[in-house]
Amino acid sequence: MINIIDKHNCCGCNACVQKCPKQCIFMYEDEEGFLYPKVDVGKCIDCHLCEKVCPCLNQEKTHEPLACYAVKNPNENIRNQSSSGGIFTAIAEKVIVEGGVVFGARFNEKWQVVHACAENTENLAAFRGSKYVQSKIGETFKQAETVLKVGRKVLFSGTPCQVSGLKHFLMKEYENLLTVEVVCHGVPSPKIWREYLESLNLTNIGSISHKDKSTGWRSYSFTIKDKEQKIIFTNRAGDNLYMMAFNRNLTLRPSCFLCPAKSGKSRADITLADYWGIEHFIPQIDDNKGTSFVCGNSEKGKALIKQLNFQFVQVDFHNSVPYNSCIVKSTEEPAERQLFWDDYKKQGILALLSLKKKKQNFIKRLIKRILR
Ligand SMILES: Cc1cc2nc3c(=O)[nH]c(=O)nc-3n(C[C@H](O)[C@H](O)[C@H](O)COP(=O)(O)OP(=O)(O)OC[C@H]3O[C@@H](n4cnc5c(N)ncnc54)[C@H](O)[C@@H]3O)c2cc1C
Ligand code: SF4
Ligand code: SF4
Ligand code: SF4
Repeated sequence: MINIIDKHNCCGCNACVQKCPKQCIFMYEDEEGFLYPKVDVGKCIDCHLCEKVCPCLNQEKTHEPLACYAVKNPNENIRNQSSSGGIFTAIAEKVIVEGGVVFGARFNEKWQVVHACAENTENLAAFRGSKYVQSKIGETFKQAETVLKVGRKVLFSGTPCQVSGLKHFLMKEYENLLTVEVVCHGVPSPKIWREYLESLNLTNIGSISHKDKSTGWRSYSFTIKDKEQKIIFTNRAGDNLYMMAFNRNLTLRPSCFLCPAKSGKSRADITLADYWGIEHFIPQIDDNKGTSFVCGNSEKGKALIKQLNFQFVQVDFHNSVPYNSCIVKSTEEPAERQLFWDDYKKQGILALLSLKKKKQNFIKRLIKRILR
């Protein structure tokens, strides 16, 4: 049975919970706010199914894409609302038009991030844009399996470990399944997100964007609007306490430092990322509004990308990856991570404030050094 001894070895995909025939695995939230499985040993029948579907225990070999492209969605509205080039929406719309069902991450009514499904293009809007919080998978692997079994198309999107979790959970290939992974350097704690949002004390929230590109794709902001779409909170990601902790990798899940699914291990049909470094390769298409780096990893994925009928520029995988190493490499665990969590244990969410003080002290020291 599943028994998590080292937290680096569980990405929280929920595959084991959904597979257990005795429903004797439950998820508990640890002190950092991440979910981990625990078995009710008395009910367990030692069938080992939970171990068989675990993407951390059954890692695939690394795999290189068949082809990579630089792409932008020509619909500017959709591209603006998306984190990169807006390609996810284009792929998802295609699946919906063909009668399929799309799974992705969205905010729920409490502004927590959860996986859900959409069967029409209007509901796809909620999946648009990166939410920098680990999403709760819930029962979505089971739901996807039910839809696949009746022969409808399914597009399942998520982080590489979520896609890998789904593939292991299904235990067989489905011709009607298309999987899209968003490259990720890690997912932050849902508890830190919950407490940070509470600390802002905002009411009447209508939308939240972790990556608001209105100030530029490279210099994006964190923005909250009210139900009338008026901005009620915004600051540059570099000045926002929540984003600072995320970008310094302090609030990431431990498994993100030993990722079981990147570098093609997830077997996702398509990989989507930001095309960082595009200014060096194809400066003529870079407008600082977001360009996607899209990889077709299987014949199915490559064919679907081609069907989009957008303007593609084929690019070289090996040349591009050095500008976005998290496509293939796990993030290094920062030495200050433990200090952050020790501080959090003492003063709760106020621990985020000390990041700002550290930044200010660093800038002061830097200015002094330059003046000297
Ligand atoms: C936590 C996180 C970290 C990321 N880090 C990087 C990075 O370091 N480098 C990089 O190149 N790209 C990163 N990305 C991916 C990138 O920001 C874009 O999401 C991706 O390129 C797709 O962009 P798009 O414009 O086509 O679509 P968008 O509309 O921006 O993306 C929508 C897709 O993202 C999925 N999604 C959104 N939030 C989550 C979530 N919390 N969990 C699972 N799936 C989610 C939706 O289900 C949907 O499939 C990250 C994404 C996330 C969620
Ligand atoms: S071994 Fe089987 S019964 Fe026991 S927890 Fe795992 S899946 Fe459930
Ligand atoms: S990685 Fe997924 S399947 Fe493996 S133990 Fe964690 S939640 Fe269960
Ligand atoms: S870095 Fe790896 S383990 Fe962490 S969320 Fe992304 S895919 Fe999962």
